[in-house]
Amino acid sequence: MKKFIFITGGVLSSLGKGVTSAGIGAILESMGYKITFLKLDPYLNVDPGTMNPYQHGEVYVTEDGAETDLDLGHYERFTNVVLTKYNNATSGRLLHQILEKERRGAYLGATVQIIPHFTNEIKRAIEKAAKDAEITLVEIGGTVGDIESLPFLEAIRQMSLELGRENSIFIHLTYVPYIKVAGELKTKPSQHSVKELRAIGIQPDILICRAEKNLPKDIKRKLALFTNVREDAVLSAPDLETIYEIPLHLKKEKLHQVLAKHLGLEEKEPDLSKWKKIVQTLNQIKKSDKVVDIAIIGKYAELKDAYKSIEEALTHASIANKVKVNLHWLKADDLTEENVEQILKDMDGILVPGGFGDRGIEGKITAAKFARENNIPYFGICLGMQVAVIEFARNVAGLEGAHSTEFDENTPYPVIDLMPEQKGIDKKGGTMRLGAYKCTIKEGTLAYDIYKQKEIYERHRHRYEFNPEFRPVLEEKGLVVSGEYTAKKLPEIVEIPSHRWFIGCQFHPEFKSKPFAPHPVFRDFVKAAYKYRTEKEEKDGN
Ligand code: GLN
Repeated sequence: MKKFIFITGGVLSSLGKGVTSAGIGAILESMGYKITFLKLDPYLNVDPGTMNPYQHGEVYVTEDGAETDLDLGHYERFTNVVLTKYNNATSGRLLHQILEKERRGAYLGATVQIIPHFTNEIKRAIEKAAKDAEITLVEIGGTVGDIESLPFLEAIRQMSLELGRENSIFIHLTYVPYIKVAGELKTKPSQHSVKELRAIGIQPDILICRAEKNLPKDIKRKLALFTNVREDAVLSAPDLETIYEIPLHLKKEKLHQVLAKHLGLEEKEPDLSKWKKIVQTLNQIKKSDKVVDIAIIGKYAELKDAYKSIEEALTHASIANKVKVNLHWLKADDLTEENVEQILKDMDGILVPGGFGDRGIEGKITAAKFARENNIPYFGICLGMQVAVIEFARNVAGLEGAHSTEFDENTPYPVIDLMPEQKGIDKKGGTMRLGAYKCTIKEGTLAYDIYKQKEIYERHRHRYEFNPEFRPVLEEKGLVVSGEYTAKKLPEIVEIPSHRWFIGCQFHPEFKSKPFAPHPVFRDFVKAAYKYRTEKEEKDGN
């Protein structure tokens, strides 16, 4: 069996097409199907690795080291699939492949064109992604009507014809705005979006309608009539309290039945009991008086999407501890020695996430120092680990001016530096240490207490490393290297045993956290923060 679900978006961006696709995947997986995903992005970058997360959101890293769109994070969090570089393709990547072939002479004699060469390349990418799956969900980035996404739409139109109607289905996610002054839900934008799709030969089979509330029957009927979609296939997708409610809601709208009927699947009842539990727990937590305040010291405090996986991992940790986590997104730029106490003194935990470029770097170092000196739980991820090492070198080991050569090439103490294999590299795209590497954990450490195993695999995305030359000096002063990339003897996890909970890791644990399997480092960070808070409260009470 090989079936395809093609998901397009209309009217507006930011409707949650990624989480909706993930939710559909979760339903199909719970019905017992082997699924996979492909995100097709219409932009010309080969991958999002060099794009600004401030515009585009986080770059998600797969196990095999691909730098991908953040929607792949949703796919992995909602399901059991493990995605690879074949599960995200951009126009840039596919065109790059075509031009390389053209130079090799693979098309000798032919005029290389959008149709059929580009569309064929798109179809090949879809087939590759679908290799081992029974059902493949193909999400097209962008909004119908964009010039850029046309080749993708043309490719899925052709593909659906070739596959046969019972083997493919088109889902269109659209928006039904509520106009307050008129007191009405408006269907016109959706009608136009579907008209646009039909003009290029795609008749959607299902409409998923984002709106503030559930659509009343008459609106569904009207949409069905004007878009040529069956009424039972016009589904509501109202704003929900949490994204983890999406699978439950889509089941309520009977999406599984519409899919089964169209694709000729056995009519099975999806078992979403684990999703129900997650949503119940999240609702309980919302009302709970068990709370922690966590500061995230980022570069892009304005756009939470830049740290999507971290935000989700903290939600998972909140579920695991049944503690409400209040996130305080703080801009590293704004932190100074003078104001740090004022800003961070009431926090129960401080997290410094990954990042590039020197903006806000001293603010992050100041935050690490404040956490260390005041015994506040600290969690440094990638750059957050590097700043903790720099801070320790400067203020505990007395290495004045210690820095990362990323920010100060002439530092007297390059405690964070490029390793030989990174030195000659001048190409920026896809050349960092990327993807999963084995890390060996030292017994008797905080890291071991967290992971409870000696070998772990975590995903990386960085160019600079803890310079092993400085390891002895820093260890002598009390920094413990509790995790190591054994093959190269590179420190991967650092901690300070005299501190109540201080950990920095060179990798990105957030990429492997799921609602049903909260990541242990995030889980224990929130646990430590809560313990610290209760201790503070007890002290204040006495
Ligand atoms: N900029 C640092 C490096 O390249 C850290 C990267 C990160 O935090 N992802 O090593």
